[in-house]
Amino acid sequence: MMNVPLLDLGPQNRALEAQFETAFREVLRSNMFIMGPRLEAFEKDCAAFLGVKHALGVSSGTDALLLALMALGIGEGDEVLIPSFTFFATAGSVSRLGATPVWVDVNPHHFNIDLEDAARKVGPRTRAIMPVHLFGQSCDLDVLQAFASAHRLRVIEDAAQSMGARWKGRCTMSSGDFGATSFFPSKNLGGLGDSGLVTTSDDALAERARMLRVHGMQPKYYHREVGANFRMDPLQAALLHIKLPQLPSYNCARAGNANFYHASLKGRPGIAENRPGAEAAAKILLPVDFSGQGIWNQFTLRVTGGRRDALKAFLTARKIGCEIYYPIPLHRQECFVGKSHRGHDSAKVSEQLATEVLSIPIFPELADEQRQWVSDSLADFAAGKSE
Ligand SMILES: *Cc1c(COP(=O)(O)O)cnc(C)c1O
Repeated sequence: MMNVPLLDLGPQNRALEAQFETAFREVLRSNMFIMGPRLEAFEKDCAAFLGVKHALGVSSGTDALLLALMALGIGEGDEVLIPSFTFFATAGSVSRLGATPVWVDVNPHHFNIDLEDAARKVGPRTRAIMPVHLFGQSCDLDVLQAFASAHRLRVIEDAAQSMGARWKGRCTMSSGDFGATSFFPSKNLGGLGDSGLVTTSDDALAERARMLRVHGMQPKYYHREVGANFRMDPLQAALLHIKLPQLPSYNCARAGNANFYHASLKGRPGIAENRPGAEAAAKILLPVDFSGQGIWNQFTLRVTGGRRDALKAFLTARKIGCEIYYPIPLHRQECFVGKSHRGHDSAKVSEQLATEVLSIPIFPELADEQRQWVSDSLADFAAGKSE
């Protein structure tokens, strides 16, 4: 039996070890450990890669969201539309500023925010929408922009899982008022620690975000507003700068793995693509890249008929790593239950997905025999084998 971890960071980072060591030595000898030219060089290349005017390195993906909201002046009394099926930080950043998340349901086939539901939930206090390009697939950016301008909403794209994903050629993070991403080690561009990035093509917003990143300070020791310390380390920037040019090849390898799963499982009994109408016929639904330019941060199955936990146990017994992203929709999290945030009683798809989803290995360095073992195991489970 073959061991297949859900994610193995080792091979990717070890391949760059010598370059990391050189970068570390340079930073060490520079004595410049806060901001400076190394961070600026990384920011410049990120902006070029994403097709935006400004990119600001920050302390984490969560802080990127927080800083974007602060720069837009969102706070007490304001509502922000967010999908109820995503990682906690999307909602946490809104709540921490005293603003109110409004729970919007998601689409069961691409897992992203359902804009028809969002339209039902816009109210007089709604100021912004925070779409998440979940698992590496961009939302429909054209529909999103039309929706936001029709309702006069600010857009903050949570692209923590979608660095390099595109919609009709346009990168995520390039069409909202702000984009935010994360370099948490398990993201597609994974750092050696915490950090993130905020993007915008609006000069005034960039200026505000820059000021708020350093305690709202401008000039030195004069504080126009209350900001915080949201800086990214130049050491982290130097290390990530080595990985940035590799990102397209990492994303391409992930797509290769996704294509392999589709090719080897197509037409197997009990397995279908997760498209409208497929639910009744299949036990295992394979995720579809509807955008055609996704980057597969996760390969997330839907397992129907209450069999998800059985599949998880089956794969675990075969030493195949898998994880539930996410077991609880945000409106059911203990910290939000009992708060009367709008939408808490009408995000049924999110609740259903939380019982159905299971993510399997998709990382770029997955070996041929490993992905074959994963695919054979899924076929066995769908055909009714019990171990
Ligand atoms: C990872 C993630 C974040 C937070 O990023 P951190 O760098 O861990 O703070 C925010 N939103 C989504 C959707 C994420 O996956």
